[in-house]
Amino acid sequence: MTALPAHDMGPAANAFRKEVRDWLARNWTAEKRAAHAKKPFKDRGWDPEFSKLMGRDGWIGVGWPRPFGGRAKSPSEQIVFVTELANAGAPFQAHNTSESIVAPSLFAYGTKEQQDEWIPKIRNGECHFALGYSEPEAGSDLAALRTRAVRDGDDFVVNGQKLWSTGGDKAQYMWLAVRTDPEAKKHAGISMLMVDLKSPGVTLRPSMALYGKTFSAQFYDNVRVPANNLVGGVNNGWKVITDALASERVMIGGGRVATIERAFDRFTEHVKTAVAGGKALRSDPRVRDRIGALAADLEVARQLQMRSLRAVEQGRAPIHEAAMAKVFASELQERLGQAALDILGTGGLLSEDADSAPLGEMEQFLRHSLMGIIAGGSNEIQRNIIAQRGLDLPRQ
Ligand SMILES: Cc1cc2nc3c(=O)[nH]c(=O)nc-3n(C[C@H](O)[C@H](O)[C@H](O)COP(=O)(O)OP(=O)(O)OC[C@H]3O[C@@H](n4cnc5c(N)ncnc54)[C@H](O)[C@@H]3O)c2cc1C
Repeated sequence: MTALPAHDMGPAANAFRKEVRDWLARNWTAEKRAAHAKKPFKDRGWDPEFSKLMGRDGWIGVGWPRPFGGRAKSPSEQIVFVTELANAGAPFQAHNTSESIVAPSLFAYGTKEQQDEWIPKIRNGECHFALGYSEPEAGSDLAALRTRAVRDGDDFVVNGQKLWSTGGDKAQYMWLAVRTDPEAKKHAGISMLMVDLKSPGVTLRPSMALYGKTFSAQFYDNVRVPANNLVGGVNNGWKVITDALASERVMIGGGRVATIERAFDRFTEHVKTAVAGGKALRSDPRVRDRIGALAADLEVARQLQMRSLRAVEQGRAPIHEAAMAKVFASELQERLGQAALDILGTGGLLSEDADSAPLGEMEQFLRHSLMGIIAGGSNEIQRNIIAQRGLDLPRQ
Protein backbone atom coordinates (compact mmCIF):
# COMPACT_ATOMS: atom_id res chain seq x y z
CA MET A 1 0.00 0.00 0.00
CA THR A 2 1.37 3.45 -0.84
CA ALA A 3 1.14 6.31 1.63
CA LEU A 4 0.00 8.75 -1.08
CA PRO A 5 -2.28 7.62 -3.91
CA ALA A 6 -0.79 7.59 -7.43
CA HIS A 7 -1.70 10.60 -9.57
CA ASP A 8 -4.33 10.08 -12.21
CA MET A 9 -2.24 10.53 -15.36
CA GLY A 10 -5.12 10.12 -17.82
CA PRO A 11 -6.58 7.00 -19.45
CA ALA A 12 -3.68 6.18 -21.79
CA ALA A 13 -0.99 6.52 -19.10
CA ASN A 14 -3.10 4.67 -16.52
CA ALA A 15 -3.55 1.76 -18.94
CA PHE A 16 0.15 1.85 -19.70
CA ARG A 17 0.91 1.71 -15.96
CA LYS A 18 -0.95 -1.59 -15.79
CA GLU A 19 0.96 -2.94 -18.80
CA VAL A 20 4.31 -2.02 -17.18
CA ARG A 21 3.29 -3.53 -13.84
CA ASP A 22 2.20 -6.77 -15.49
CA TRP A 23 5.52 -7.06 -17.34
CA LEU A 24 7.48 -6.34 -14.15
CA ALA A 25 5.46 -8.93 -12.22
CA ARG A 26 6.42 -11.57 -14.80
CA ASN A 27 10.03 -10.51 -15.35
CA TRP A 28 11.23 -8.81 -12.19
CA THR A 29 10.07 -11.58 -9.94
CA ALA A 30 10.36 -11.84 -6.17
CA GLU A 31 13.16 -14.37 -6.71
CA LYS A 32 15.15 -11.99 -8.93
CA ARG A 33 14.56 -9.09 -6.56
CA ALA A 34 15.82 -11.14 -3.61
CA ALA A 35 18.95 -12.20 -5.55
CA HIS A 36 19.57 -8.59 -6.60
CA ALA A 37 19.14 -7.34 -3.01
CA LYS A 38 21.88 -9.75 -1.88
CA LYS A 39 24.45 -8.11 -4.18
CA PRO A 40 26.78 -5.52 -2.62
CA PHE A 41 25.12 -2.12 -2.76
CA LYS A 42 27.66 -0.82 -5.32
CA ASP A 43 26.57 -3.47 -7.84
CA ARG A 44 22.83 -2.88 -7.60
CA GLY A 45 20.96 -1.01 -10.31
CA TRP A 46 23.46 -1.97 -13.03
CA ASP A 47 22.41 -5.30 -14.55
CA PRO A 48 23.28 -5.92 -18.25
CA GLU A 49 21.20 -9.12 -18.29
CA PHE A 50 18.10 -7.28 -17.15
CA SER A 51 18.82 -4.56 -19.72
CA LYS A 52 18.86 -7.24 -22.43
CA LEU A 53 15.55 -8.60 -21.15
CA MET A 54 14.01 -5.14 -21.32
CA GLY A 55 15.41 -4.74 -24.82
CA ARG A 56 14.04 -8.09 -25.94
CA ASP A 57 10.52 -7.13 -24.90
CA GLY A 58 10.60 -3.60 -26.33
CA TRP A 59 10.99 -1.67 -23.07
CA ILE A 60 14.03 0.33 -24.15
CA GLY A 61 13.07 3.42 -26.10
CA VAL A 62 9.42 3.64 -25.05
CA GLY A 63 9.55 7.41 -25.68
CA TRP A 64 11.59 7.20 -28.89
CA PRO A 65 10.00 7.97 -32.27
CA ARG A 66 8.66 4.93 -34.12
CA PRO A 67 11.06 5.16 -37.11
CA PHE A 68 13.88 4.34 -34.66
CA GLY A 69 12.05 1.36 -33.21
CA GLY A 70 10.58 3.28 -30.27
CA ARG A 71 7.01 3.22 -28.99
CA ALA A 72 6.42 6.99 -29.17
CA LYS A 73 4.90 7.13 -25.69
CA SER A 74 3.80 10.54 -24.38
CA PRO A 75 5.71 12.32 -21.56
CA SER A 76 2.96 11.24 -19.09
CA GLU A 77 3.41 7.63 -20.12
CA GLN A 78 7.19 7.95 -19.84
CA ILE A 79 6.89 9.33 -16.29
CA VAL A 80 4.60 6.44 -15.40
CA PHE A 81 7.16 4.05 -16.85
CA VAL A 82 10.09 5.53 -14.89
CA THR A 83 7.97 5.62 -11.72
CA GLU A 84 6.99 1.96 -11.99
CA LEU A 85 10.58 0.88 -12.62
CA ALA A 86 11.76 2.90 -9.62
CA ASN A 87 8.93 1.61 -7.40
CA ALA A 88 9.86 -1.95 -8.28
CA GLY A 89 13.57 -1.26 -7.71
CA ALA A 90 14.24 -2.59 -11.24
CA PRO A 91 17.89 -2.27 -12.36
CA PHE A 92 17.91 -0.18 -15.52
CA GLN A 93 21.04 1.93 -15.03
CA ALA A 94 23.21 -0.09 -17.42
CA HIS A 95 21.32 1.20 -20.49
CA ASN A 96 19.95 4.45 -19.04
CA THR A 97 22.52 6.93 -20.41
CA SER A 98 22.54 5.19 -23.81
CA GLU A 99 18.77 5.29 -24.01
CA SER A 100 18.07 8.77 -22.69
CA ILE A 101 21.11 10.84 -23.74
CA VAL A 102 23.05 9.10 -26.53
CA ALA A 103 20.13 7.79 -28.60
CA PRO A 104 18.17 11.10 -28.69
CA SER A 105 21.42 12.86 -29.71
CA LEU A 106 21.89 10.35 -32.52
CA PHE A 107 18.27 10.86 -33.69
CA ALA A 108 18.88 14.61 -33.93
CA TYR A 109 22.51 14.80 -34.98
CA GLY A 110 23.76 11.33 -36.00
CA THR A 111 24.48 10.33 -39.58
CA LYS A 112 22.38 7.56 -41.15
CA GLU A 113 25.36 5.19 -40.73
CA GLN A 114 25.70 6.06 -37.03
CA GLN A 115 21.98 5.57 -36.46
CA ASP A 116 22.01 2.20 -38.25
CA GLU A 117 25.02 1.04 -36.28
CA TRP A 118 24.28 2.26 -32.75
CA ILE A 119 20.50 2.52 -32.30
CA PRO A 120 19.75 -1.23 -32.60
CA LYS A 121 22.49 -2.06 -30.08
CA ILE A 122 21.10 0.49 -27.63
CA ARG A 123 17.52 -0.71 -28.21
CA ASN A 124 18.57 -4.31 -27.52
CA GLY A 125 20.15 -3.33 -24.19
CA GLU A 126 23.61 -4.35 -25.34
CA CYS A 127 25.36 -1.00 -25.44
CA HIS A 128 26.24 0.85 -22.25
CA PHE A 129 27.53 4.42 -22.15
CA ALA A 130 28.64 6.66 -19.29
CA LEU A 131 28.81 10.47 -19.39
CA GLY A 132 32.23 12.06 -19.79
CA TYR A 133 31.51 15.75 -19.23
CA SER A 134 33.09 16.92 -15.94
CA GLU A 135 36.79 17.65 -15.49
CA PRO A 136 38.86 18.87 -12.53
CA GLU A 137 38.39 22.50 -13.68
CA ALA A 138 35.05 22.13 -15.47
CA GLY A 139 31.89 21.23 -13.53
CA SER A 140 29.28 23.97 -13.21
CA ASP A 141 31.22 25.82 -15.88
CA LEU A 142 31.23 22.83 -18.21
CA ALA A 143 32.18 24.86 -21.27
CA ALA A 144 35.62 25.38 -19.66
CA LEU A 145 36.48 21.75 -20.44
CA ARG A 146 39.99 21.15 -21.76
CA THR A 147 40.21 17.50 -22.88
CA ARG A 148 41.63 17.96 -26.35
CA ALA A 149 40.82 16.12 -29.60
CA VAL A 150 42.92 16.74 -32.71
CA ARG A 151 42.07 15.36 -36.14
CA ASP A 152 44.74 13.04 -37.55
CA GLY A 153 43.81 11.18 -40.75
CA ASP A 154 40.68 9.10 -40.16
CA ASP A 155 40.90 9.51 -36.38
CA PHE A 156 40.75 12.06 -33.61
CA VAL A 157 43.59 11.85 -31.08
CA VAL A 158 42.32 12.54 -27.56
CA ASN A 159 44.36 13.75 -24.56
CA GLY A 160 43.01 14.83 -21.20
CA GLN A 161 41.18 13.86 -18.04
CA LYS A 162 37.56 13.37 -16.98
CA LEU A 163 36.09 12.57 -13.58
CA TRP A 164 32.86 11.71 -11.72
CA SER A 165 31.53 9.54 -14.58
CA THR A 166 28.77 7.52 -12.90
CA GLY A 167 29.02 3.88 -13.98
CA GLY A 168 32.20 4.82 -15.81
CA ASP A 169 33.96 1.78 -14.35
CA LYS A 170 31.36 -0.60 -15.83
CA ALA A 171 30.33 1.01 -19.13
CA GLN A 172 31.72 -0.01 -22.52
CA TYR A 173 31.68 3.47 -24.06
CA MET A 174 32.08 7.09 -22.99
CA TRP A 175 29.90 9.90 -24.34
CA LEU A 176 32.83 12.27 -24.33
CA ALA A 177 32.83 16.07 -24.56
CA VAL A 178 36.13 17.28 -26.03
CA ARG A 179 37.67 20.54 -27.15
CA THR A 180 38.35 20.60 -30.87
CA ASP A 181 39.07 24.32 -31.26
CA PRO A 182 41.03 25.96 -28.42
CA GLU A 183 41.00 29.33 -30.21
CA ALA A 184 37.20 29.61 -30.52
CA LYS A 185 34.97 31.10 -27.78
CA LYS A 186 34.65 28.40 -25.14
CA HIS A 187 31.13 27.18 -26.05
CA ALA A 188 32.01 27.18 -29.74
CA GLY A 189 35.02 24.82 -29.69
CA ILE A 190 33.47 21.65 -28.23
CA SER A 191 32.61 18.36 -29.99
CA MET A 192 31.07 15.03 -28.97
CA LEU A 193 32.80 11.69 -29.45
CA MET A 194 31.73 8.12 -28.73
CA VAL A 195 34.81 6.46 -27.24
CA ASP A 196 35.39 2.74 -26.74
CA LEU A 197 36.80 2.48 -23.22
CA LYS A 198 38.92 -0.48 -24.26
CA SER A 199 40.90 1.74 -26.66
CA PRO A 200 44.70 1.81 -26.10
CA GLY A 201 45.67 4.86 -24.04
CA VAL A 202 42.53 4.92 -21.84
CA THR A 203 43.22 4.48 -18.12
CA LEU A 204 40.23 4.13 -15.79
CA ARG A 205 40.49 4.93 -12.13
CA PRO A 206 37.36 3.60 -10.37
CA SER A 207 36.35 5.18 -7.05
CA MET A 208 33.55 4.87 -4.55
CA ALA A 209 31.18 7.83 -4.15
CA LEU A 210 29.82 8.83 -0.75
CA TYR A 211 26.46 7.25 -1.56
CA GLY A 212 28.02 3.80 -2.03
CA LYS A 213 28.20 3.38 -5.81
CA THR A 214 31.16 3.60 -8.12
CA PHE A 215 32.25 6.09 -10.73
CA SER A 216 35.45 6.55 -12.67
CA ALA A 217 38.02 9.16 -13.46
CA GLN A 218 39.54 8.57 -16.89
CA PHE A 219 42.86 9.57 -18.35
CA TYR A 220 43.17 9.79 -22.14
CA ASP A 221 46.70 9.52 -23.45
CA ASN A 222 46.90 9.80 -27.25
CA VAL A 223 43.70 7.76 -27.63
CA ARG A 224 42.74 7.27 -31.29
CA VAL A 225 38.99 7.56 -31.88
CA PRO A 226 37.58 6.96 -35.37
CA ALA A 227 36.30 10.20 -36.90
CA ASN A 228 33.11 8.24 -37.68
CA ASN A 229 32.40 8.40 -33.93
CA LEU A 230 32.04 12.20 -33.98
CA VAL A 231 28.37 13.14 -33.40
CA GLY A 232 26.89 16.41 -34.61
CA GLY A 233 29.86 17.80 -36.52
CA VAL A 234 33.07 19.49 -35.41
CA ASN A 235 32.61 22.29 -32.82
CA ASN A 236 28.85 21.69 -32.56
CA GLY A 237 29.07 19.78 -29.25
CA TRP A 238 27.55 22.44 -27.01
CA LYS A 239 24.27 22.27 -28.95
CA VAL A 240 24.30 18.45 -28.78
CA ILE A 241 24.90 18.54 -24.99
CA THR A 242 22.26 21.15 -24.18
CA ASP A 243 19.59 19.56 -26.40
CA ALA A 244 20.17 16.20 -24.72
CA LEU A 245 19.91 17.80 -21.27
CA ALA A 246 16.62 19.45 -22.21
CA SER A 247 15.12 16.15 -23.41
CA GLU A 248 16.34 14.38 -20.28
CA ARG A 249 15.47 16.93 -17.60
CA VAL A 250 11.88 15.92 -16.91
CA MET A 251 12.59 12.20 -16.88
CA ILE A 252 15.47 12.56 -14.41
CA GLY A 253 13.08 14.48 -12.14
CA GLY A 254 10.46 11.77 -12.55
CA GLY A 255 12.86 9.09 -11.37
CA ARG A 256 13.90 11.18 -8.38
CA VAL A 257 10.35 11.82 -7.16
CA ALA A 258 9.54 8.11 -7.54
CA THR A 259 12.61 7.21 -5.48
CA ILE A 260 11.54 9.61 -2.72
CA GLU A 261 7.98 8.25 -2.77
CA ARG A 262 9.27 4.72 -2.42
CA ALA A 263 11.53 5.61 0.53
CA PHE A 264 8.73 7.61 2.17
CA ASP A 265 6.37 4.64 1.87
CA ARG A 266 8.92 2.22 3.31
CA PHE A 267 9.70 4.58 6.18
CA THR A 268 6.02 5.23 6.97
CA GLU A 269 5.32 1.49 6.97
CA HIS A 270 8.20 1.01 9.41
CA VAL A 271 6.93 3.76 11.72
CA LYS A 272 3.48 2.15 11.85
CA THR A 273 4.84 -0.89 13.70
CA ALA A 274 8.18 0.16 15.21
CA VAL A 275 8.72 0.61 18.93
CA ALA A 276 11.38 2.88 20.47
CA GLY A 277 12.06 3.17 24.23
CA GLY A 278 9.04 0.94 24.91
CA LYS A 279 6.64 3.23 22.99
CA ALA A 280 5.09 2.89 19.55
CA LEU A 281 6.73 5.41 17.24
CA ARG A 282 3.42 6.14 15.56
CA SER A 283 2.01 7.47 18.86
CA ASP A 284 4.71 10.09 19.25
CA PRO A 285 3.20 13.46 18.27
CA ARG A 286 6.60 14.79 17.15
CA VAL A 287 6.97 11.85 14.75
CA ARG A 288 3.46 12.32 13.37
CA ASP A 289 4.04 16.05 12.96
CA ARG A 290 7.28 15.52 11.05
CA ILE A 291 5.91 12.80 8.77
CA GLY A 292 2.78 14.80 8.06
CA ALA A 293 4.88 17.78 6.98
CA LEU A 294 7.02 15.54 4.75
CA ALA A 295 3.88 14.12 3.13
CA ALA A 296 2.79 17.66 2.25
CA ASP A 297 6.25 18.39 0.82
CA LEU A 298 6.14 15.18 -1.21
CA GLU A 299 2.89 16.28 -2.77
CA VAL A 300 4.51 19.63 -3.67
CA ALA A 301 7.39 17.72 -5.35
CA ARG A 302 4.86 15.71 -7.34
CA GLN A 303 2.98 18.83 -8.41
CA LEU A 304 6.19 20.58 -9.52
CA GLN A 305 7.07 17.53 -11.57
CA MET A 306 3.61 17.59 -13.15
CA ARG A 307 4.07 21.25 -14.05
CA SER A 308 7.25 20.43 -15.97
CA LEU A 309 5.50 17.53 -17.62
CA ARG A 310 2.59 19.69 -18.77
CA ALA A 311 5.05 22.18 -20.28
CA VAL A 312 6.66 19.37 -22.30
CA GLU A 313 3.22 18.15 -23.40
CA GLN A 314 2.45 21.67 -24.61
CA GLY A 315 5.67 21.61 -26.65
CA ARG A 316 7.65 23.96 -24.37
CA ALA A 317 11.07 23.23 -22.80
CA PRO A 318 10.44 23.51 -19.04
CA ILE A 319 13.58 25.48 -18.19
CA HIS A 320 12.78 27.14 -14.86
CA GLU A 321 9.95 24.69 -14.05
CA ALA A 322 12.37 21.75 -14.22
CA ALA A 323 14.92 23.71 -12.15
CA MET A 324 12.28 24.32 -9.43
CA ALA A 325 11.27 20.66 -9.45
CA LYS A 326 14.91 19.56 -9.19
CA VAL A 327 15.81 21.92 -6.32
CA PHE A 328 12.69 21.04 -4.32
CA ALA A 329 12.83 17.27 -4.84
CA SER A 330 16.56 16.88 -4.19
CA GLU A 331 16.37 18.95 -0.99
CA LEU A 332 13.27 17.02 0.08
CA GLN A 333 15.27 13.81 -0.31
CA GLU A 334 17.84 15.24 2.10
CA ARG A 335 15.13 16.39 4.56
CA LEU A 336 13.43 13.00 4.47
CA GLY A 337 16.74 11.22 5.08
CA GLN A 338 17.57 13.50 8.00
CA ALA A 339 14.09 13.13 9.53
CA ALA A 340 14.29 9.34 9.23
CA LEU A 341 17.66 9.19 10.97
CA ASP A 342 16.42 11.49 13.75
CA ILE A 343 13.31 9.38 14.28
CA LEU A 344 15.12 6.04 14.09
CA GLY A 345 17.57 7.20 16.76
CA THR A 346 21.17 6.02 17.01
CA GLY A 347 20.29 2.73 15.27
CA GLY A 348 19.32 4.80 12.24
CA LEU A 349 23.01 5.47 11.65
CA LEU A 350 23.60 1.80 10.83
CA SER A 351 23.84 0.81 7.18
CA GLU A 352 21.63 -1.91 5.79
CA ASP A 353 24.37 -4.56 5.96
CA ALA A 354 24.43 -4.26 9.78
CA ASP A 355 22.23 -6.99 11.29
CA SER A 356 20.66 -4.71 13.88
CA ALA A 357 19.92 -1.78 11.53
CA PRO A 358 16.24 -0.86 12.05
CA LEU A 359 15.90 0.39 8.46
CA GLY A 360 19.42 0.71 7.05
CA GLU A 361 18.29 1.85 3.62
CA MET A 362 17.40 5.30 5.04
CA GLU A 363 21.01 5.94 6.05
CA GLN A 364 22.06 5.18 2.47
CA PHE A 365 19.16 7.28 1.17
CA LEU A 366 20.46 10.33 3.07
CA ARG A 367 23.97 9.89 1.64
CA HIS A 368 22.45 9.50 -1.83
CA SER A 369 20.56 12.80 -1.49
CA LEU A 370 23.78 14.77 -2.00
CA MET A 371 24.07 13.39 -5.52
CA GLY A 372 20.74 14.98 -6.46
CA ILE A 373 21.85 18.32 -5.01
CA ILE A 374 25.14 18.43 -6.94
CA ALA A 375 24.94 16.30 -10.09
CA GLY A 376 23.17 17.35 -13.28
CA GLY A 377 23.76 21.04 -12.41
CA SER A 378 24.09 21.97 -8.71
CA ASN A 379 21.16 23.56 -6.89
CA GLU A 380 22.94 26.94 -6.83
CA ILE A 381 23.07 26.81 -10.62
CA GLN A 382 19.38 25.78 -10.70
CA ARG A 383 18.52 28.77 -8.48
CA ASN A 384 20.37 31.02 -10.91
CA ILE A 385 18.23 29.55 -13.71
CA ILE A 386 15.02 30.17 -11.75
CA ALA A 387 16.05 33.78 -11.05
CA GLN A 388 17.26 34.55 -14.56
CA ARG A 389 14.88 32.57 -16.75
CA GLY A 390 11.79 32.26 -14.54
CA LEU A 391 11.79 35.62 -12.74
CA ASP A 392 13.60 37.78 -15.29
CA LEU A 393 16.40 38.76 -12.94
CA PRO A 394 19.32 38.76 -15.38
CA ARG A 395 22.92 39.12 -14.25
CA GLN A 396 24.25 42.62 -14.90
C1 LIG B 1 27.30 11.60 -7.36
C2 LIG B 1 27.74 12.37 -8.57
C3 LIG B 1 27.64 11.82 -9.82
C4 LIG B 1 28.09 12.51 -10.96
N1 LIG B 1 28.02 11.91 -12.20
C5 LIG B 1 28.60 12.55 -13.25
C6 LIG B 1 28.66 11.88 -14.54
O1 LIG B 1 28.18 10.77 -14.72
N2 LIG B 1 29.31 12.51 -15.55
C7 LIG B 1 29.85 13.76 -15.41
O2 LIG B 1 30.41 14.27 -16.37
N3 LIG B 1 29.78 14.42 -14.20
C8 LIG B 1 29.18 13.83 -13.14
N4 LIG B 1 29.13 14.47 -11.91
C9 LIG B 1 29.76 15.79 -11.78
C10 LIG B 1 28.76 16.91 -11.60
O3 LIG B 1 28.12 17.22 -12.82
C11 LIG B 1 29.55 18.12 -11.04
O4 LIG B 1 30.01 17.76 -9.73
C12 LIG B 1 28.67 19.37 -10.94
O5 LIG B 1 28.37 19.87 -12.22
C13 LIG B 1 29.37 20.47 -10.10
O6 LIG B 1 30.64 20.70 -10.60
P1 LIG B 1 31.91 20.71 -9.61
O7 LIG B 1 31.88 19.48 -8.77
O8 LIG B 1 33.13 20.93 -10.46
O9 LIG B 1 31.69 21.92 -8.63
P2 LIG B 1 31.97 23.46 -8.97
O10 LIG B 1 31.40 23.80 -10.30
O11 LIG B 1 33.41 23.74 -8.73
O12 LIG B 1 31.08 24.17 -7.86
C14 LIG B 1 31.51 24.27 -6.49
C15 LIG B 1 30.43 25.01 -5.73
O13 LIG B 1 30.28 26.34 -6.26
C16 LIG B 1 28.93 26.55 -6.67
N5 LIG B 1 28.91 27.35 -7.90
C17 LIG B 1 29.65 27.15 -9.02
N6 LIG B 1 29.35 28.05 -9.97
C18 LIG B 1 28.39 28.86 -9.44
C19 LIG B 1 27.66 29.97 -9.93
N7 LIG B 1 27.84 30.46 -11.16
N8 LIG B 1 26.74 30.55 -9.10
C20 LIG B 1 26.53 30.06 -7.85
N9 LIG B 1 27.22 28.99 -7.32
C21 LIG B 1 28.11 28.40 -8.11
C22 LIG B 1 28.36 25.17 -6.93
O14 LIG B 1 26.96 25.14 -6.79
C23 LIG B 1 29.06 24.35 -5.84
O15 LIG B 1 28.37 24.47 -4.64
C24 LIG B 1 28.65 13.81 -10.80
C25 LIG B 1 28.72 14.39 -9.51
C26 LIG B 1 28.29 13.69 -8.41
C27 LIG B 1 28.41 14.33 -7.05
